[in-house]
Amino acid sequence: MSAELRSVVILGTGCAGLTAALYTARSGLQPLVIEGQEAGGQLGLTTLVENFPGFVEGIQGPELVDNIRRQAQRFGAEYRSGNVRRADLSARPYRLEMEEGQDLRAECLIIATGARARWLGLPSEQALIGHGVSSCATCDGFFFRNRDIIVVGGGDSAMEEATFLTRFASSVTLVHRREDFRASRIMLERARGNPKIRWLMPAVIEEVLDAQQKEVTAVRLRDPRDGRQWEMPTAAVFLGIGHVPNTGFLGGQLECDADGYIITHENVLTRAPGVFACGDVQDRRYRQAITAAGSGCMAALEAEKFLAEAGHGAGQT
Ligand code: NAP
Repeated sequence: MSAELRSVVILGTGCAGLTAALYTARSGLQPLVIEGQEAGGQLGLTTLVENFPGFVEGIQGPELVDNIRRQAQRFGAEYRSGNVRRADLSARPYRLEMEEGQDLRAECLIIATGARARWLGLPSEQALIGHGVSSCATCDGFFFRNRDIIVVGGGDSAMEEATFLTRFASSVTLVHRREDFRASRIMLERARGNPKIRWLMPAVIEEVLDAQQKEVTAVRLRDPRDGRQWEMPTAAVFLGIGHVPNTGFLGGQLECDADGYIITHENVLTRAPGVFACGDVQDRRYRQAITAAGSGCMAALEAEKFLAEAGHGAGQT
């Protein structure tokens, strides 16, 4: 079966992918946007975004991505649900093997696949995902109304999750492996000012316990200074310990750093001609909605330039 050929295929529907869709659509390139596993990316899972310029009172993350999505659609961006299993970047047009549906070919590829939540990696944690272990406070917080719960991490994600979860839980204990925090001052101070948040540092989760009941009942903790271990009852463990870039489908064909982030040159260029990367999949430093949007714009402008120089007109090839 011959694979559908497109001028521009964008992978990902977070802030970066959707901004790239908006710009390429407005320049008449009729981009095809593959939605990926988590449509809306990380913003789709967040609550109030207060630092995206232009929204005096802030805007809910899902509303922000939905707005950009519809804005791009107005200019001709097309969306398709699905996931790329494997990309073949050995020759143009690049071939995308889809997990479902027909394979695609793309003259130009914009990779905006973002990053997914990082887990502690404990077998007991993995076994209890969906039974009290979660990486999404907005998705699962509601289930822990009037319960005592734990949030793990010391960055902005952990502060945001802990603060948000106090809406439901009777108490949130923030467990962090160090006594210093990566979180921005404003987020840390907001969490510190919340009387429902308790602080436990330095402490490491050794095991998530379920007492064969198939739901979280406690954790076993360790003090990294002296190795002392103890158990603490909890109804849930929310992870806020950072993210892992979604680059597995590339199979090492693009240069990535040790943690799998795509290494870009001149902002969004990769070593493969006509392949651009934007947003969290290539940015481990800033990782903000606004910087993702900015790099999505750059990727779109580079795609336009590339296609013009390669002699492709607007629209489908
Ligand atoms: P992060 O800044 O990388 O922080 C991750 C935290 O998890 C660190 O405190 C780290 O501890 C801890 N951690 C990592 N691996 C761990 C493990 N295996 N066990 C225990 N703890 C572990 O990630 P993030 O909080 O997701 O933030 C990422 C970016 O998004 C940042 O730029 C942040 O500003 C931004 N962000 C912004 C907002 C907002 O403005 N509303 C909200 C969320 C995120 P160590 O400190 O010891 O390494």
